[in-house]
This record gives sequence, structure tokens and C-alpha cells, in this order.
Amino acid sequence: GDGANVRVVVRVRGFLPREIERGATCIVSMDPATETTTLNAPIQVGTTQNARVNARKTYESKTFTFDNSFWSANRNDPHYADQEEIYNALGEEFLDHNFEGYHTCIFAYGQTGAGKSYTMMGTPENPGLIPRTCEDLFERIESNESPNISYNVRVSYFEVYNENVRDLLVPKRDPPYNLKVRESPTEGPYVKDLTEVQVRNIEEVMRYMRMGDASRTTASTKMNDTSSRSHAVFTLILKQIYHDMDTDETTERMARIRLVDLAGSERANATGATGVRLREGSNINKSLTTLGRVIAALAEASNKATSSRKNKDVVPYRDSVLTWLLKDSLGGNSKTAMIACISPTDYDETLSTLRYADQAKKIRNRAIVNQDMVS
Ligand code: ADP
Ligand code: MG
Repeated sequence: GDGANVRVVVRVRGFLPREIERGATCIVSMDPATETTTLNAPIQVGTTQNARVNARKTYESKTFTFDNSFWSANRNDPHYADQEEIYNALGEEFLDHNFEGYHTCIFAYGQTGAGKSYTMMGTPENPGLIPRTCEDLFERIESNESPNISYNVRVSYFEVYNENVRDLLVPKRDPPYNLKVRESPTEGPYVKDLTEVQVRNIEEVMRYMRMGDASRTTASTKMNDTSSRSHAVFTLILKQIYHDMDTDETTERMARIRLVDLAGSERANATGATGVRLREGSNINKSLTTLGRVIAALAEASNKATSSRKNKDVVPYRDSVLTWLLKDSLGGNSKTAMIACISPTDYDETLSTLRYADQAKKIRNRAIVNQDMVS
């Protein structure tokens, strides 16, 4: 096994029109030389709305170091990190690992409006990590000239909403849209009966991607802000089949590429993940609060020099649907990255996201090459 820490990067977006309107000030700064992100104490006198501050509280400046600190706050800045830069810094390397036979997972974390969907999916003009990964994947496959290698790519797309799993590729299944989670001794946890379709080129995969996205959007008009409460998991399965002409042996490498757009973290913050007591009747997002507990447990296990066997036993993966399904990606057989998306103007939410990200840095994974002799 190849032990490595979860890679943690942070990305700050620019002001939204509504933030410009209220005269918001930028309280985040980054140093590209040291990859540090600083959350500056907002100036409180007379600016209580400007940076969402509480006049009775004292604020401190805090600095964190990450694997990357991506400055996407101002397009005119020479350090501005656009969608391509994020892909080149993270997506490309993870796809290299997939071709080597490793599972990978990249998940976006942060409050609603912080830039998770922009980073993962993006827009038609500025595509994000998911479409760029698909494009690069098929470019690599199409440029292969070896007659001994063949490829098989499959895609699935589901969301977890209120602890229900919903197939985004076959939206007709609702209601009820609750698929079951099962665990296999070899493959780990999986969604039973989830649609998994083979895709032969970039056009096909993009069609499924858009279809899945559309069924997420359709639901949100019915159920009022679904996308901020739902976790969307886009998965590509890459199979590489090698046939050795000399020995007539066939081996297969299988890699799972997981790209996750999490629900807005503000709900977890408001309801207990950060220690605030759970208010009765408040709408908790069980998967997100459990994710916080899983990350905390894994970070603690890696802190302890003593045998982590016992500590790993108490990681509460099975307490929520999302953490159960992501078990491998968190502290298991996967190379994993977290993208912490932050707003430039919201002290409390941004601090909580940076602390969360800081903790995730401590998690160690053990990824292995998934290779089998098939004949
Ligand atoms: P989230 O998915 O975290 O709720 P979104 O990705 O929808 O947030 O982003 C909120 C808004 O900010 C969208 O209008 C999006 O286009 C814009 N946005 C987010 N990140 C960036 C960025 N890096 N550059 C430009 N616009 C961004
Ligand atoms: Mg979103």
C-alpha cells in the first residue's frame, strides 16, 4: 500500500453581485509562495453588515497552510486561479493515478454559495473538474496506440438527500427514490440497483452528466433548495484490459474516479458538528454532521502514535448514508483530495470551513493498485 495524506486545497471565490451591493469587504488573503490562507479579523467599527460580523464578538486573524491556496477572488489579479489551473494542479494528477490503477476521490466542501458546484461542474463557458476530467480521460484513451490495451468506461451519478439515495441518471424512479446501500466483502459499500452506463466517448459522458445535473435541478424547484441540502456523487469507472501477446495473459486494472459536490456546510455548523448544541426540530443534515465526526475520528487516529487499529474501529462510517458510501475514500483504499470552497466575506462560516479543512489534512489513506489477472 501507498500511504498518503488527504490532499487539501482551499479556493476563495470573488464577490457576488449581492455582496458588492452591500459594500462587502474582502477578509481573506493568500500568499502563493507559502500556500497559506489568512482569514483577517473584520474591521468592526461601523461595518457590522459588511463582513457579516457580530458587534459583540472579538475576531482574530487566523492563518492556515494547505497543499494549495487558490486565489479566485479577482480575475485581474496575476495570481488568479481559473478553472484550468485547478484542473492542472489537481485533476490531471489524479487522473494519472487512475491510469496507474488507483481509486481517487475529490470532494468539494463549503457553505452554500462558496463555489462548490462552480469548481466541480462549472458552467458551459468555464467547465469545472468533472467535465475536464471526462475530456482528458477520453483524450488519453483515444491517443493510445497499443493494440494490447483496451478500455471500458462506465458512469453513474446519484445524490444523497435526507438520507435517501436517488439515481440521477434514471430520475423516473421517484417517488420513492430510495435506493438501498449494501456492503460487499470485496467491493465495499455500494448502491444497490444504481444505474451504471457504459460511455464510449466524451459526447456520451457529457450527455449523462448533463442529464444527471438536470434531474438534480428539477428536484430543487419542487423541494426548495435541494442542491444546498443534497450531496451529489459523480463516478467514473475506468477499466484497462491488458493482453500480453507473449504469455497470452490478460490483466485488468480498475480505477474508480469519484467527484463529489457536498451539501452546504452551514447546516452542519448550525447544528452540532462544531459543538453548538443541536436545536430541537432543526433540519440537520445527518450525512454532513457524520462526515465531520468521521474526519475528526480519522484525524485523531492518525495523531496517535499507538496502534490505529482500535481507533479505526470507532470511525462512525455507518452512521450516515454518505459516509458509509465514501468509506473507502475516507481513510481507505483511495487517493483523496478535499477542496474547501470559501466566500471572501463571511468570517464565521469561512473560519469553520478552514478548521474543517485543517483537520482533514491529517487523514492518511492507503491506496493500492487495483489489478487482477483475469485469464
Ligand atoms: P455552491 O455550489 O457552493 O453553493 P456555487 O458554485 O453555486 O456555490 O457558486 C455560487 C455563485 O458564485 C455562482 O453564481 C458561481 O457561478 C459563482 N462562483 C463561484 N466560484 C466562482 C469562481 N471561482 N469564479 C467565478 N464565479 C464563481
Ligand atoms: Mg452548489
